[in-house]
Amino acid sequence: MSKVAHYLQEHLVGEVMSGTDARLYFATDGSILQTAPALVAYPKNENDVRKAARFSWQLAERGRVIPVTPRGSGSNHSGAAIGSGIILVFPAHMNRILELDTKTGTVTVEPGINYGKLQQALHTHGRFLPPYPASLEYSTIGGAVSNNISGEKSIKYGSTRDYVKSLRIVLANGEVVETGRLSKRELSKKLGLATFEGEIYRSIDTLLEEQHELIEQLPRNVTMDSAGYCLTDIKRKDGSFDLTPLIVGSQGTLGIITEATLGTEPYNSQTTLIMASFDSLEHFQQAVLELRGLPEMPSAMEMVDGNLLQQVHELNPNQLKDIIAPPFPLVTLLVEFDSAERRIKKLIKKTQKILDKTAKDYQVTDEPEQELLFWKVRQATSSLLAHNAGLLHAVPLFDSAVPVDRLREYLEGLYSLMEANNLKPAVWGHAGDANLHVQPQLNLGQVGDRQKAFRLMGEHNKLVINLNGTISAESGDGRLRTPYLEFMYGSELYALLQKVKQIFDPYGTLNPGVKFGSSLDDIKAIVRTDYNLEHIYTHLPQS
Ligand SMILES: Cc1cc2nc3c(=O)[nH]c(=O)nc-3n(C[C@H](O)[C@H](O)[C@H](O)COP(=O)(O)OP(=O)(O)OC[C@H]3O[C@@H](n4cnc5c(N)ncnc54)[C@H](O)[C@@H]3O)c2cc1C
Repeated sequence: MSKVAHYLQEHLVGEVMSGTDARLYFATDGSILQTAPALVAYPKNENDVRKAARFSWQLAERGRVIPVTPRGSGSNHSGAAIGSGIILVFPAHMNRILELDTKTGTVTVEPGINYGKLQQALHTHGRFLPPYPASLEYSTIGGAVSNNISGEKSIKYGSTRDYVKSLRIVLANGEVVETGRLSKRELSKKLGLATFEGEIYRSIDTLLEEQHELIEQLPRNVTMDSAGYCLTDIKRKDGSFDLTPLIVGSQGTLGIITEATLGTEPYNSQTTLIMASFDSLEHFQQAVLELRGLPEMPSAMEMVDGNLLQQVHELNPNQLKDIIAPPFPLVTLLVEFDSAERRIKKLIKKTQKILDKTAKDYQVTDEPEQELLFWKVRQATSSLLAHNAGLLHAVPLFDSAVPVDRLREYLEGLYSLMEANNLKPAVWGHAGDANLHVQPQLNLGQVGDRQKAFRLMGEHNKLVINLNGTISAESGDGRLRTPYLEFMYGSELYALLQKVKQIFDPYGTLNPGVKFGSSLDDIKAIVRTDYNLEHIYTHLPQS
């Protein structure tokens, strides 16, 4: 064990490791990047987290930076859960439901709890946490909150930020702060504190006052956005103040979450699902826009394109047999409603009217077994992601959304990009939020393909920015998108975000390199040559 690890182990109840195996295991996450940490710690409780943060802060005061990176299940695609210092692994011990109010559905959890397990527990009380990710079986609530994730239900229910009521966070110096909406009077008290917490409240309050015109330019015209920091909902017109929206989505760069209190929604397992096919992108976009205008938003609006279905069919001709057959439509759209029974008939009628003039054909069902079959069309994506042709892997390079009325342009841009780079396109995603996914098949062991990956990221991010979109839609900037953030925000707004980081993290001990401080050369130097999805194979296939 290294000297530093030994010193930390003397102070922590949870385990500390610095062996090569542990360091290599935690050198990667779901992204194409890798960095081996100096050591790995499994905090047993909040006190352990405080001590680790304090340790890192005190070393930094003396000029030696061993930063702290909190980690859930490491499933993020952006290199946000890797770091060169101490990896704090939460799922091992800090994984409990602390309180569940079955009347209000409010739940308080430790960050390492598995998302799927929490969802199961909520279902037994007729509730659910709507912005769940496709990866819920192998990811944590800490990761979800920290990434401000979204998912298939976000079109109707919003993103994670909409559900976080309060947080307990450990600050960079080891102090603990409880966030939540404060009245004007409560804020005054915080502003008077002679602690680091007081300093943070004072500095953020001043920043919001002085820069409010600039801050108003932050929100982008998209319905999913996890980029940068959220500064718009901290201080409200009534003078109330809440740091929670700022911490949600901050990816461990402002504080370490030790407890999260979340709101939930009533769960209605009775749904109606429509599977529609389109042979024109223009009609597809028109349908999506009109469906968004229904009196009640669909609870999901998901798409896969014909290229994806064709590729899945070539891999396994039985997978979609009896559900959808070649020749596959240009786009297949799944539209789900979970509205109350008395409203559903009207909604379906209106939906059919829209699809009658836009879709090639469509089928409507409220039979659970038929719905499961329809959903298999969207879930076919997993087969494509898990398949590797030799050393080629479907690598996650992008996570973007554009304004919904530019969905068609985005799709066309993606096709041109892939074709220009001699890659087979296969597109899927949350159509209703214009959040599309493409994972090009590359062999990162080859210099040419690594160069191609950066060419693709550069061109793709430019396309999205030109369409007024966000380069980080569902799950954060991480290291991978950090080099492009200034380009997206412009230098003034990006400098403003950096001020926030400096207020919370003056010594750069909290997950440095994420959101700030990673240049293109920095990330080129840490690209993995052997991208794989080892961490999810046990969860596939799903049924
Ligand atoms: C196949 C697949 C499908 C996916 N589908 C989706 C999807 O539908 N929607 C979506 O948004 N994402 C999706 N993702 C990305 C990822 O799974 C999610 O973002 C997930 O919520 C990350 O959770 P995690 O526990 O793995 O977090 P990690 O990857 O471990 O960490 C994510 C971030 O959270 C920070 N963090 C973790 N714990 C704490 C803490 N206690 N305090 C402060 N910061 C913390 C980390 O430092 C890091 O910045 C998918 C990934 C895969 C592989």
